[in-house]
Amino acid sequence: MTTLSEIKASGMGLMANCAGPNCGHGKPLDMDMLIERFGTDYEMVGERRISASLKCDRCGRKGAVIHSLANTMPNGYAKAKDDRSDC
Ligand SMILES: [Zn+2]
Repeated sequence: MTTLSEIKASGMGLMANCAGPNCGHGKPLDMDMLIERFGTDYEMVGERRISASLKCDRCGRKGAVIHSLANTMPNGYAKAKDDRSDC
C-alpha cells in the first residue's frame, strides 16, 4: 500500500524528474497539493495521472518520472543546501 496519505504520514515525499533524455531536471512534489488534487487514497503504485500532468520547468516537456524520496524533513537535503553559505 502506497497511497498519498501514507507517503506523507511516513515523512517521505515524491520527486519528479523530467523524462527528457537531455534534461532530467528534478523537483520535489508538494504532497498537500497532490492530496488535494488526487485524494488521500490515491495509489502511487503504477500511477500515471500525476506523472502525465507534470510539465518540466526547464525544458517544458510534458510527463515526468516520479520517484519516492526518503524523509525530506529538516535535516536532510534542504539543510545541506543552506549550509553552503557558511563556507
Ligand atoms: Zn526538462
